Amino acid sequence: MAEPKVNELMEKIVSLCKRRGFVYQSSEIYGGINGFWDYGPLGAELKRNVKELWWRRIVHEREDVAGLEATIIMAPQIWKASGHVDTFSDPMIDCKTCKGRFRADQLNETPCPQKPSKMVSECHGEKTEPRAFNLMFETHVGPVKDDSSIAYLRPETAQAIFAQFKNVLETSRQRVPFGIAQTGKAFRNEVTPRNFTFRSREFEQMELEFFIKPDEVVEAITGTVATPAGPGHPGEPQPNWGWQMWHQYWVEERIRFYEGIGLPRASLEEYWQKPEELAHYARACVDILFKFPFGTQELEGIAARSDFDLSQHQRFSGKAMTVFDEELKAAWARLPKEKQDELWRRYCEARQRYLLKMGEEPEKAAALARADADGLAKGWYIPHVIEPSAGVDRLILALITNAFSEVTETDAKGRNETRVIMRFHPRVAPTKVGVFPLLKNKPELVKKALEVRDLLRPWMTVFYDEGGSIGRRYARQDEAGTPFGVTIDFDTLGEKPELRDTVTVRHRDDGHQERLAIKDLVGWLLERVR
Ligand code: ATP
Repeated sequence: MAEPKVNELMEKIVSLCKRRGFVYQSSEIYGGINGFWDYGPLGAELKRNVKELWWRRIVHEREDVAGLEATIIMAPQIWKASGHVDTFSDPMIDCKTCKGRFRADQLNETPCPQKPSKMVSECHGEKTEPRAFNLMFETHVGPVKDDSSIAYLRPETAQAIFAQFKNVLETSRQRVPFGIAQTGKAFRNEVTPRNFTFRSREFEQMELEFFIKPDEVVEAITGTVATPAGPGHPGEPQPNWGWQMWHQYWVEERIRFYEGIGLPRASLEEYWQKPEELAHYARACVDILFKFPFGTQELEGIAARSDFDLSQHQRFSGKAMTVFDEELKAAWARLPKEKQDELWRRYCEARQRYLLKMGEEPEKAAALARADADGLAKGWYIPHVIEPSAGVDRLILALITNAFSEVTETDAKGRNETRVIMRFHPRVAPTKVGVFPLLKNKPELVKKALEVRDLLRPWMTVFYDEGGSIGRRYARQDEAGTPFGVTIDFDTLGEKPELRDTVTVRHRDDGHQERLAIKDLVGWLLERVR
């Protein structure tokens, strides 16, 4: 099931991915299954590194984020409350001529299966009218397959975070503002999976729901609501930050993360969704785009989602999603009456707008909104949320395309040879270091090289290689993206006494070499690969 060939660079990348074991087609021996991909030995390491770095940055290095690992199949009511059952669909059309099925909004970018030189929008096949196609995969839980046992494979990891919000709040000793993070599989029955792994039917997400105080609460407590003074990182979080500051903070934090794993700022773009593009509950959404070879496309979305998600789960489950804030209660009591009235009214209006949009009867919506605003005055509110939602597989593809480079070298016989160097940032590189005895047939060199391999192994991924010329071995590791190569030679064994127990360290990107003592190797490498 070949992907349409987007361009020559993508062809080279796809072929390298298979040849070196980054990515294979799922079920390839049976002809593949469209929209599903497997990660080979190098790809699996790359993916683990990316997820671990995300987790470290988002959870371990912060005081204010806790982790979660929820199930893929959850109560189907979750997807009713989130809106996925009713609205998570793409417009789809069928071509009566070729029997193909296409996303109605992508006809200009989808090649016609019968005439690949033409896009579906231009070919003469007879098309049906667009109709909604729900992207959730359905399954049945338990032995009876009927409507009552329908369940869904989660189309995003985020909803479990909302559903477990109260449990995490109670067990983690966190207080708003704080976040809950989760990585894991998500499934979408995409109408037209394409661009290699970019749009898959099974993929992984790294999502953070960062819960914040509504602006009315911030204002009641601190007297002001800080808003961004201009572009750029707004610095350390402050108690007077409103949702706009938090949103900008997370956009900038996420861009710093990408830069920290080797995606240059110039390869990224911020796209601020226009008001008419925003989901009805969203106050703002920024897509972080990456310049893929097939176009500049979304890597991550960072949305300010108001209190929509928790409110929906409160309505559908009947369980309160409110939090109590002692500081708010105390601050409210000190506010002048006019300020209390103003904040009460603003909060009440926001709640009423949400309830009306969700189809509540006007009278009921007004009564519920008043009750919510009365709660606010006593210290209770539903947190708002900022959601940075990233795709692991898209990031892997971005890292692979960014790392891919070809160099042409002339060998001793004057022949030109083009080879690939995968210039991964050492932090994400699948293998951190190659270890090579200069010669395979010298037992002392091999013994020493195996000692060095075993010294490094507890700390990082090591690839030991004794086969072929040293140049070939370097080239193989360049293609795998291994940033450092350690060679054990006769000087290591003491041929030049002053160099005993030192090794050559070769840098992948420019081939330069330096001499290091074996005892310093672990520290030197860890400084560069972590
Ligand atoms: P798109 O508009 O490209 O379909 P989306 O806006 O629906 O994406 P979200 O629902 O915001 O995507 O999901 C968050 C992230 O999950 C995306 O930024 C992307 O990295 C990843 N993602 C979503 N759908 C897919 C997919 N089919 N294959 C791979 N990754 C995906």
